[in-house]
Amino acid sequence: QPIVRFTDVTKRYGNLTVLDKLNLDVAPGEKVAIIGPSGSGKSTLLRALMTLESIDEGLIAVDDEPLTHMSTRDGRLVPASASYQRKVRGKIGMVFQSFNLFPHMCALQNVIEAPMQVLGLGRKEATERAEELLAMVGLGEKLRHFPSQLSGGQQQRVAIARALAMRPKVMLFDEVTSALDPELCGEVLRVIRRLGSEHNLTMLMVTHQMGFAREFADRVCFFHQGRIHEQGTPEELFGNP
Ligand code: ADP
Ligand code: ADP
Repeated sequence: QPIVRFTDVTKRYGNLTVLDKLNLDVAPGEKVAIIGPSGSGKSTLLRALMTLESIDEGLIAVDDEPLTHMSTRDGRLVPASASYQRKVRGKIGMVFQSFNLFPHMCALQNVIEAPMQVLGLGRKEATERAEELLAMVGLGEKLRHFPSQLSGGQQQRVAIARALAMRPKVMLFDEVTSALDPELCGEVLRVIRRLGSEHNLTMLMVTHQMGFAREFADRVCFFHQGRIHEQGTPEELFGNP
């Protein structure tokens, strides 16, 4: 039973078809790497799954629950309501290329904010969870640092801890190392690799890091013009190392 299912999903911006009857099933715990040229719809796929974008046709379901609903009027799929989006974001965590941390909050505050506001966790419990997660991403010594006092790689690791604090079943990574100097990529990829091996998280990752995709992913999907052009295990696509 897939945890994430895209069925004939189409998304257009005006005349531009960004997702073209796209189908994708992701099994629980599966690690999927999404690779493809700029503009092929990779980011839109993740954003639609996160309900940050509406879709024009098709169905996206998480845990067998449809994400977007048909409006009764013209058969167009309408975007989820705000309350529905909050529910979705409790199941799905997303990390972006730009870290999007709150600049006026320290690392710890960044991580406790959403669980307290959205899940209604008490400060003590949220803090314990945040400290654990920040230690896991290697920032146990930097709880009180503000984003401006952290390197890009450290900020991105805070962003990962923040997404994990909501205890998502599915994690989405959208080119999370693209804004980082090469020497800082490694520390972020190491954290993602460890997450993947130690937790039964489902992961979808848009990346240009072919080597990482090959080594980390259960399945690699090549996007081209809003469709999955080719997909398979790294062995099937690249041969045995
Ligand atoms: P990728 O992640 O593969 O680079 P995207 O999903 O970001 O591709 O974008 C696919 C296409 O959709 C691009 O051509 C982009 O310019 C276009 N696009 C993305 N967002 C918008 C928007 N809000 N309005 C119009 N066009 C958009
Ligand atoms: P709400 O009305 O649920 O409080 P918003 O007014 O912010 O939320 O957005 C309404 C819906 O439009 C949301 O479900 C959101 O996902 C969707 N939405 C916001 N921006 C875009 C966009 N650029 N393209 C498509 N859908 C969008």
